[in-house]
Amino acid sequence: MKKVPLFIDGEFIQSTSNEWIDVTNPATQEVIAQVPCATDAEMAAAIASAEKAFATWKEVAVPERARVMMRYGALLKEHQEELAGIICEELGKTHEDAMGDVWRGIEVVEHAANIPSMLMGETVENVARNIDTYSYTQPLGVCAGITPFNFPAMIPLWMFPLAIACGNTFILKPSEQDPLTPMRLVELFEQAGAPKGVLQVVHGTKPQVDELLENPVIKAISFVGSVGVGQYIYKKGTDNMKRVQAFLGAKNHMVVMPDANKDAVINNIVGASVGAAGQRCMAISVGVFVGEAQQWIPEIKEKLAAVRPGHYSDPEAAYGPQITPQAKARILSLIETGKNEDANCVLDGSDIEVEGYPNGNWVGPTMFTDVKADMDIYKEEIFGPVFLTMNVDSLDEAIELINNNPYGNGTSIFTNSGGAARKYQHNILVGQVGINIPIPVPLPFFSFTGWRGSFAGDQHAYGKQAVKFYTETKTITARWFDNDIPASGPNMSINL
Ligand code: NAD
Repeated sequence: MKKVPLFIDGEFIQSTSNEWIDVTNPATQEVIAQVPCATDAEMAAAIASAEKAFATWKEVAVPERARVMMRYGALLKEHQEELAGIICEELGKTHEDAMGDVWRGIEVVEHAANIPSMLMGETVENVARNIDTYSYTQPLGVCAGITPFNFPAMIPLWMFPLAIACGNTFILKPSEQDPLTPMRLVELFEQAGAPKGVLQVVHGTKPQVDELLENPVIKAISFVGSVGVGQYIYKKGTDNMKRVQAFLGAKNHMVVMPDANKDAVINNIVGASVGAAGQRCMAISVGVFVGEAQQWIPEIKEKLAAVRPGHYSDPEAAYGPQITPQAKARILSLIETGKNEDANCVLDGSDIEVEGYPNGNWVGPTMFTDVKADMDIYKEEIFGPVFLTMNVDSLDEAIELINNNPYGNGTSIFTNSGGAARKYQHNILVGQVGINIPIPVPLPFFSFTGWRGSFAGDQHAYGKQAVKFYTETKTITARWFDNDIPASGPNMSINL
């Protein structure tokens, strides 16, 4: 049995833990590896090594830090297929989707290679006579990241490349459900020439995360995952006076206007709702149909009914299994809830079978129409291939509905009206808006800007905001005396 190592002080080491968690292939239930829950001593060793490495890494010239990222980006591109293969095995994504998971991470590494210009401070000469003020951007120290199962390449890559390029050292606690992909990312990072101790990997669950949240050496925590866990991490981390950014769950709506391009609406809903088995924080899980656009709902159902999940070796498979039998059971129970709540279940994927893979965690495409805002299937994040439709009479009504939903990760509007799109983008209380784009995940030179219940913190992932999150600003006010000018007497006021 493959035992997943820890990565501490530049070495891949076998944990001495007596607590191990099975990593399974979700299409077969085959146990493909075991991941340890790091012991207290291993946690302490990782934190101590990261603290020690910070003292030297922060002194490494910024262009040299950037070069590590350039080499890393090139290596990731060389190994993109291999990484995608690991994702397929431990998470079950289709090959194409797994390639995208790696690619969106590579783009962040490319962004991190631009670190010198992103670290530039500000200067003003002569803030008072002969006095200049300028600012520097300095790293925080040891930062930590706790990542979810659903993007095992992209989300770790949202975090450690930028944190490390900024001059910090980093401790990654990847999801225990699919740790093999992040471990391969880390091997390649070492191969790219990252010095010993700059990146550490610990494995585990709540006790290991608690140590990261409590240990005073850790200065900042980046978290991506579910609402309950994220709120706990935000509260506990900030109670311990750490900087925390927490990216949480979602319920993303697409507004469909009657003047939209119908084929584009139908195709984009199919891909964005059940793609990746609905296990995307930016999946479109609710369609809000305005007026006559409601006539297209039966056609969407027909198109969704033709979508089949399957094994990643099957090029016809549209998406893969849910991550665990427990995740599947939760989705099936929410489908039952929807039926009991009198939503109209027009497509039920609860009993789907995939030939050759009787033990996979399959859920077929599922669709409810006539959903109401007080139903549990609307209020809860389902995180499965379940699409809900709601009917409204006007764009204003759609905006009010969505603004009353607690989440604010992503949304989109499909329309041919510039006026409607402008009104929507301006008034909607959601942090990432697509106009005729179903899943508007920004590229890394912007930031990933979820709002409201989908985010806790101030500065978001990647882009300029991540550089702010992982650094402190130091502002210097300086005067150099000219010995030819006589010094003035004591100044007793606050004026310069
Ligand atoms: P999760 O919250 O179960 O786990 C995330 C991480 O937290 C894992 O590393 C896990 O080991 C750790 N963890 C779990 N329980 C913990 C506890 N009690 N205390 C401390 N740490 C704990 O999330 P998941 O199921 O892996 O991921 C799916 C969720 O992530 C969905 O809700 C999805 O919307 C969300 N997500 C959000 C974004 C975003 O950008 N907003 C992106 C991807 C995923």
